[in-house]
Amino acid sequence: MSKRTAGRRHFLAASLGLGGALLAPRVLGKSLPELLPPAGTRRVLIGGGGWGGLTAARRLRQLAPQLDVVLIERQAVFRSLPLSNKWLVDRTPDALSQQDYARVAGAHGYRVIRAEVTAIDRELRRVHTARGSLGYDWLILAAGIRHDYAAWFGDDVRATDQARRLYPAGFMADELDAVKRKLAEFKGGDLLMTIPPSPARCPPAPYERAVMIAWMLKTRRIRGRLILVDPGGGMQRFNRVFAERYKDQIVHLTHAPVKSIDPFTRTLSTEFDEIKFDDAILIPPQQAADLVWQAGLVGRDAAGRADGWAGFDPLHLHAIGDERVFLVGDLLGKASPLFGHYPKSAHLACHLGRIAAAEIAARAQGKLPQPQLPESICHVYTDAEPMEMLRIDASYRLRGDGLIAQTVRQHEDPQPRGEDAQWAQGLYREMLAPD
Ligand SMILES: Cc1cc2nc3c(=O)[nH]c(=O)nc-3n(C[C@H](O)[C@H](O)[C@H](O)COP(=O)(O)OP(=O)(O)OC[C@H]3O[C@@H](n4cnc5c(N)ncnc54)[C@H](O)[C@@H]3O)c2cc1C
Repeated sequence: MSKRTAGRRHFLAASLGLGGALLAPRVLGKSLPELLPPAGTRRVLIGGGGWGGLTAARRLRQLAPQLDVVLIERQAVFRSLPLSNKWLVDRTPDALSQQDYARVAGAHGYRVIRAEVTAIDRELRRVHTARGSLGYDWLILAAGIRHDYAAWFGDDVRATDQARRLYPAGFMADELDAVKRKLAEFKGGDLLMTIPPSPARCPPAPYERAVMIAWMLKTRRIRGRLILVDPGGGMQRFNRVFAERYKDQIVHLTHAPVKSIDPFTRTLSTEFDEIKFDDAILIPPQQAADLVWQAGLVGRDAAGRADGWAGFDPLHLHAIGDERVFLVGDLLGKASPLFGHYPKSAHLACHLGRIAAAEIAARAQGKLPQPQLPESICHVYTDAEPMEMLRIDASYRLRGDGLIAQTVRQHEDPQPRGEDAQWAQGLYREMLAPD
């Protein structure tokens, strides 16, 4: 099958809801308005304005001002997940950063369209939204993750809706307010939180959240426990803190993958336990965002099954077999057989955004860019009072055999002085601030 035919087939499958992809029926059989007049120059569309998409947009304006850059984002404002855990329990007086997309785009000289992308036609190089469609010369997909509730509930829509509504994960920016409200209103009893299996967004984040919640229970003298249901063995540093400082607040069930959850009777089963809970933060397994499924770009495992994440060329970040589509951020699949996925961190998403922009800028000039590799820095609190921090750095190099190798270093900091906020300010300046 030719590449063009394959692209078309994926578009139709996605539109018809086949192969687990989302329905996008409005696109078929009805012509949609052009969202923007055709560009007088070549156009780059960016699907998703999180850390990766915003960085790519800004960098493209700097590297290739001759290109028309359009960001498509369903939210009106950008909100940060990094720094959110301490904000959830009021362990910081600082508000969570919120930035208006229209202001940021105006300041940097690109355009933003507030719309949900519903389908991607790679053969015709068009992106469809509920409001209309538009063509591209290059497309960057930077849409993050989706929650895989189907892993728990199959096609039971009622159970999925109930879990999403009453027990939101707080792992996407638009879920944060509901989790904050839930914690503010928690008066006691068993609060359950599931840890998502790997690969998942920011693996230390659920443990940091657990410490913050335990601190909240302790300092507010709430007669309640946080029950952590963890498919793995946890993280050494956190395991020690849970056991030594929060043994009355945290029950950590390790090596306990979720077997089933009933969000109506508030019951979770593992292989060994049946747990009743009073309230919960249910963080399901994760997959690449819908856009990756709509574009037919989900990778396959050795048995040919969809592995849930975007297949990509690790040296140039384009889709396998399609050098018009670039992939950035948490949605990526395995980068290397030596370590698997890149850490799903904001820092790394920003780096990938810069690299994708450099790739497109070079290609727009008819050049093939040199491969560049990202890095990741993640600050995570391992205790709330006194504040203690762990900094996790990951760096990458290309080995002689062409494979990417990873080095990870951890530094414990018993006296943090706002390094996480300084880190975020540095990236905000790049993504959000005017020149
Ligand atoms: C609690 C928590 C704490 C964290 N702490 C840190 C930290 O300290 N340091 C760190 O480096 N990382 C941290 N992370 C990880 C970080 O938030 C993610 O790695 C980062 O958000 C990934 O960026 P992204 O651009 O890939 O995706 P996102 O930031 O999720 O952006 C995706 C965007 O795409 C949009 N979108 C999706 N689908 C569509 C569609 N169909 N149409 C239009 N728009 C769409 C979404 O609205 C969203 O704005 C944390 C994560 C969590 C959950």
